[in-house]
Amino acid sequence: MKIISLSNRQKRIAEIVRLEGPITGEHIAERLSVTRAALRSDLAILVMGGILDARPKVGYFYTGKNTLGMLMEEISGICVKDLQSVPVAISQEKSAYEAVVTMFLEDVGTIFVVDEAGLLAGVVSRKDLLKAAINNADLHDIPVVMVMTPLSKIIVAHPEESVAAAARKVIDNEIDSLPVVRTVDDGKRSYEVVGRITKTNFTRLLVDLAEGKGGNYHK
Ligand code: ADP
Repeated sequence: MKIISLSNRQKRIAEIVRLEGPITGEHIAERLSVTRAALRSDLAILVMGGILDARPKVGYFYTGKNTLGMLMEEISGICVKDLQSVPVAISQEKSAYEAVVTMFLEDVGTIFVVDEAGLLAGVVSRKDLLKAAINNADLHDIPVVMVMTPLSKIIVAHPEESVAAAARKVIDNEIDSLPVVRTVDDGKRSYEVVGRITKTNFTRLLVDLAEGKGGNYHK
């Protein structure tokens, strides 16, 4: 589905029809003090967008589908895997200092820490590293595992999950990002990290939806 953005006049027409429909094109034109011909393209767009329907001899009526409903429909079709970024990870053998360097080099705010098998072991954020730094400790001497949030407390997202569900986890847990994972079937809570989804991804989606580019996410 392609999302359409309505002009102010199209919104007014939709509102008139919602309140007064069924209503003829002539009557809508009268209400707006314009000619019937001037409304032709606006009415065509509203009918094509599924917001209004037209019946011969009856006029226009409202389908009950408003633009908010269309937006919700658009978002519900977008999955985490359509939006995610490449994950940035470091080995659990590394120091907190190396986590800081990676954060700067990769230009990310959160790093995933992985074990020798490449499975998720923890998450280290800017605040975790700042906390270690203000304790006057030498970050070279602090293993990253000492400052990270451990696996048992990590909130994850799955590739097929809806973006709205992932965004809800970010808001509810007051965090900036989620590792996107595939569960490894080894009898434990083990995850392979396949991506990351951050507040920036959600913001970019909002901008794209506002600019009518939501269709880019449906692969
Ligand atoms: P920042 O430190 O840059 O504000 P966050 O708000 O994401 O970043 O991190 C706040 C705390 O939450 C940190 O201790 C971090 O380790 C932890 N954290 C970050 N992401 C997650 C996650 N997906 N699941 C659980 N804890 C997380």
